[in-house]
Amino acid sequence: MPARDDGEDGAAADALSVVAHELRLEILRALWAAEGHSLSFSDLRTAVGVRDAGQFNYHLSQLTGRFVAHVEDRYELLYPGHRVVDAIQSGVFHRDLAGTEIDVPGTCSDCAGSLAFTYDEFIARIECLDCGETILGYPFDPGGFEGRDDAGVVRAFDRRTRRYWRSSTDGVCPVCAGPTDAELVADATTLQALDRYDKHFASDQPAIVATDCRHCSFYSYVPSGVVVLSHPAVVGALYDRGVDVRDERLWTLPFVVDTDRVVLAGSNPLEVTVTAGPDDDPLRVGVDADATISSLDV
Ligand SMILES: [Zn+2]
Ligand SMILES: [Zn+2]
Repeated sequence: MPARDDGEDGAAADALSVVAHELRLEILRALWAAEGHSLSFSDLRTAVGVRDAGQFNYHLSQLTGRFVAHVEDRYELLYPGHRVVDAIQSGVFHRDLAGTEIDVPGTCSDCAGSLAFTYDEFIARIECLDCGETILGYPFDPGGFEGRDDAGVVRAFDRRTRRYWRSSTDGVCPVCAGPTDAELVADATTLQALDRYDKHFASDQPAIVATDCRHCSFYSYVPSGVVVLSHPAVVGALYDRGVDVRDERLWTLPFVVDTDRVVLAGSNPLEVTVTAGPDDDPLRVGVDADATISSLDV
């Protein structure tokens, strides 16, 4: 259970109400855009474009101390101010990119059909254009589309999903930095029936890793192959076999997305064996109940 202070919601609501004003958000964004995230009062007022100094001063004073620091004759963005700007720039409050479809490298593990990246309701998916199977899916902020061509968007989705999954299975929440738990779960179908992102996380493998933040709402289901991917001996052994994991995408790594690359090695406690690498020179890696690597045969 998340540890909660009495009054935590009240303090958060109070902080959010302070920034819930267009002019105040403009002040935060103007400071963010300024060199050194810092401006004098007059430069800040010019940047925001408010004629009425009294009105401007009032709104700035509401932010000062919590989101903005007043240091000598300048105003600077504080860390919580940065996080407010980050939340806006992620695009989740105001951008809708539904309908995006981009062809991607790789083939469907079920039917060998071609794959596409699609985007709907903040979820990016790698889908088979032939059989309709979702190979992999995960939330992706609209900010991921900024300043990138199609290939860049797809690469960014791969990289960010890897980092989120790696961090959360390594005990650190990628959203709030709080502690996460990770465990192998066998009944993926039942679990994912409860989940709004159902069916998108290697659900046909015999077990997946469930990870959950004790502090915030973050949780995820992660293919066992992603845990394997974080071990340096595995990355090195794959490299020796001609596979540079940096050049791959999660959905082009068979041990992440294919059903037959993950087999049950024990049910009490739960353990799986993940087989990576080429068929004629495989590496076998055991992943145990707490989602750590229990054996390495590379
Ligand atoms: Zn297919
Ligand atoms: Zn968290």
